Amino acid sequence: MRINLAKSAGFCSGVKRAIDIAFRTAASEKNVYMLGDIVHNEDVVRQIRKAGIKKIKRLLPGKNRALLIRAHGISLNTLRATLKLGYKIFDATCPMVKEIHQIACDMEEKGYHVIVIGDKKHDEVQGIVGQLKGEATVIDNLDSIPFKKIKCLKKACVVVQSTQNLENVLKIVSALKQHISDLKFFNTVCKPTRLKQEEIKRMPLENDVMIIIGSKNSANTKRLYEISHSINKRSFWVTSKKDIRRYWFKGAKNAGVTAGASTPNYTTQEVMDYIKQITPA
Ligand code: SF4
Repeated sequence: MRINLAKSAGFCSGVKRAIDIAFRTAASEKNVYMLGDIVHNEDVVRQIRKAGIKKIKRLLPGKNRALLIRAHGISLNTLRATLKLGYKIFDATCPMVKEIHQIACDMEEKGYHVIVIGDKKHDEVQGIVGQLKGEATVIDNLDSIPFKKIKCLKKACVVVQSTQNLENVLKIVSALKQHISDLKFFNTVCKPTRLKQEEIKRMPLENDVMIIIGSKNSANTKRLYEISHSINKRSFWVTSKKDIRRYWFKGAKNAGVTAGASTPNYTTQEVMDYIKQITPA
């Protein structure tokens, strides 16, 4: 059986950069803290912890502390509170997330109400909303558009959480356009996510079986799986080789493999080696 690996599988540039900054910071500083996990992957989180970076839920006062800002970014309020407590800042916010912050702030400055399409509870969305002086509207799907509020808006701009499904985003934007006369749309789905989504729309058509690798708490892996499964029912979401089942590949001539933005390459390689081992050559 042939195994086809997606070109875009695994770490995106923002995650790679954040992990590099984390290890460099751990090597140069003593008391490094992080609000939450660096990325949504248990293995990577374990390695970062081993390097000496501690995960905290809230900021604690103390001397000579450093805070590592994760790839998703943080709100201005949290940043101010961190500086007030005397923390040194090591910023691993992805440059593409910073670009979204900039657009949202510029448009607010120009008098546009900011609408964010994304998961309300996700750190990246909270970070975007947390850059603004006023209130923003967050919409996570077509069914949750607050039309009563939307109909009162004359000028609004839309920015998008970097890992959203572009198809859903376009449906939401087209619904908004019917009610807001001056609507500026910024497609801020990042390039690595777009490449992943392009491949995941093609690969399930070209492969008998699709394997999507990533943690169960990884939002971008979940999206890859959902797209793949909507095209090819023989799509399976695994966290590592231990989740693989031999019967999935019965009669299959080829299998496509992809991995979320926070899945390390060695996990993907282990999964592919295991599939090779349990299927006929
Ligand atoms: S998914 Fe995109 S925006 Fe998010 S960290 Fe990766 S490259 Fe940056």
